[in-house]
Amino acid sequence: MTAKLLDGKEVAAAVKAEVASRVEGLGYQPGLATVLVGDDPASHSYVRGKHRDAAEVGIRSIHRELDSSVGQDELFGVVKELNDDDEVDGILVQLPLPEPLDGEATVERIDPVKDVDGLHPFNLGQLVLDRPGLRPCTPGGVMRILDHYGIPTAGKRAVVVGRSFLVGRPLALMLSARGADATVSVAHSRTADLAGMARSADILVAAVGVPRLITAEYIQPGATVIDVGINRVDERLVGDVAFDEVAEVAGAITPVPGGVGPMTRAMLLENTVRAAVARRS
Ligand code: NDP
Repeated sequence: MTAKLLDGKEVAAAVKAEVASRVEGLGYQPGLATVLVGDDPASHSYVRGKHRDAAEVGIRSIHRELDSSVGQDELFGVVKELNDDDEVDGILVQLPLPEPLDGEATVERIDPVKDVDGLHPFNLGQLVLDRPGLRPCTPGGVMRILDHYGIPTAGKRAVVVGRSFLVGRPLALMLSARGADATVSVAHSRTADLAGMARSADILVAAVGVPRLITAEYIQPGATVIDVGINRVDERLVGDVAFDEVAEVAGAITPVPGGVGPMTRAMLLENTVRAAVARRS
């Protein structure tokens, strides 16, 4: 392997240490509320992980677990209760919600100042307007990895493969925002000549959900490659990037697991502290 390894676990540890020291200086314990509906094992495991992370940095967890038979209005009621609870600084509704519950409508009920996932239309609007606000955790984590390793973005050509509201779109906005100043293209399933477009990238981000879609022929020699994808193949987690072959061409690359995943979790903690400071000061 010739590419430099961008170690998300290392960056996440640095973010968590920063958060822990900020929490210590606050004089109160910020509260992060999680709302979990149904019995999906993956969602349960993600939420458990979030509680563990929170405990590590001194953030208090508040947990609401609801049966999958819960009605939409009852779920809205739980969100409202957390909005009104002064001890709760951040609210995270674990998505996806079981059918027929409406995840987007539920997120819209979260008070935007407590929207630590950064997915409320108000916060996404603030991002479009290049104004301060809570940013979505995964794209925020990608930006932090680039920053941590001193990978310049200004004037660089970035290609983001994937246009979801969770990752691709907000990341494209963050990369092109004033201060980051990359020139960004967004690719998706209807993009013509994806390989050619990807090869023009100084920074290539894959947020697709197709195992090993990005092969060496997609890479400009020396490019930075960020793999957001998490796919389960034969009981193993693999990214959207064919790591071994791409690592021979790229200048720097994130692994899966151990790349963007830990950063998503760390950025949630950072957002919780930000929300607490914004609300309580
Ligand atoms: P979505 O399914 O919402 O979006 C996938 C995007 O990829 C869509 O825009 C889709 O295009 C595009 N796409 C699909 N197939 C192709 C293709 N063959 N060529 C080009 N583009 C394609 O997924 P998410 O954004 O939610 O997640 C993407 C990946 O990131 C998943 O593997 C997910 O598990 C992972 N993920 C990882 C996180 C982490 O913490 N590391 C957090 C969140 C997600 P179109 O819009 O045209 O359908």
